Amino acid sequence: MILGRKLRPGALAGGGEADSALSHCAYCPKLCTFMCPVSRETRRETHSPWGKQTTLFEIARGMLPLGREYVEPIFACTNCHACTSVCDHDIDVTVSLLAGRARVLEAGMLPDPLRVLLRNQPDREAEARRNVAALAGVIGPSRAARTVLFPGCAAALEDPAMVRAALAITRAIDGDSTAAFQDLCCGLPYLLAGDVSGFMEAARKLAEEARAWKTIVVLDPGCAWTLGKLYPEHGLELQAEVTTLVEYVLPHLHRFVRRSNPKGPVFYHDPCHLGRGLGVYDPPREILLRLVAGGARDLSLTRDSEPCCGGGGAIPESMPHVASGAASRLAATLRGEGARTVVTACPTCRAHLLDQEGLKVVDLVTLLAEAL
Ligand code: SF4
Ligand code: SF4
Repeated sequence: MILGRKLRPGALAGGGEADSALSHCAYCPKLCTFMCPVSRETRRETHSPWGKQTTLFEIARGMLPLGREYVEPIFACTNCHACTSVCDHDIDVTVSLLAGRARVLEAGMLPDPLRVLLRNQPDREAEARRNVAALAGVIGPSRAARTVLFPGCAAALEDPAMVRAALAITRAIDGDSTAAFQDLCCGLPYLLAGDVSGFMEAARKLAEEARAWKTIVVLDPGCAWTLGKLYPEHGLELQAEVTTLVEYVLPHLHRFVRRSNPKGPVFYHDPCHLGRGLGVYDPPREILLRLVAGGARDLSLTRDSEPCCGGGGAIPESMPHVASGAASRLAATLRGEGARTVVTACPTCRAHLLDQEGLKVVDLVTLLAEAL
């Protein structure tokens, strides 16, 4: 697993481990700056991993006030884990920034776009639940089912067809798997806006519902990272086994037959939470070897070094110009290396890369469902 040293949100000002991680960054010669998609777009040192950690370090030590001018860097992170992947000290900047966001919310200084995100989240969840219920025909616990699909709210809202494809896959592999989760938010949107209690409430609801299942198949890598990484850090252990859809499919690849080939050359894009976050690099490539003639190509900077699409960390809400700049930069890199089609395994990456000129974006779940 790639992620290194952890800071529990809320531990920011408490000294000890939290203070030590911030100190590492504050006194570091900025070894990870070149990896950060945010400072690459803004060209501001305060948006580099070092700059963000140093801002938090100085706030925690009382050297800077928690004023509005210092809030912005705390939200200038896509949660891509790229800095951690090159850090000799395994510092997980994302977790200390989440702790910083919680402190900003407590101080009543949450930026407006994140205030709106928090206000709209219950309505988004209700709409996601309606979409999945309409698609699946069944939602919520079923006595027969042992495996359940957790689509996550992003896919359910933005790409219900992807959820339909994922249900077709899980049903083909395990006929009893006819259900989708009723509570469709893993809680990550709350945490990204600093709302730790909102996150815990969503997580506890999910953990309670999960007691009915043996295996939870997670479609969205961001949700899988949250369930697999953030829940244990917050003291929540799920009784069910949690697996990503690509890992779930892998032992059953013989059931899938290539029907057509996307327009080539075809490249694969590693989603940050799936790759650097969970260390799941090989399963999507093995699936693509079966579904695409000759498999998919990698960028020259790939796996740990794969560029971020800019879609995570609530950056599309808080810094939309950075989010679209990162997506355009990634698309230009893909085109520059010869890609006509890019396949990804994340609903957020797919949505974020759509509409890039000269590049077709295909999601792996749809490809798999077509090959059933
Ligand atoms: S994350 Fe690691 S490499 Fe980056 S600034 Fe902190 S200590 Fe340095
Ligand atoms: S996680 Fe990604 S966006 Fe956040 S500071 Fe590190 S490199 Fe930058």
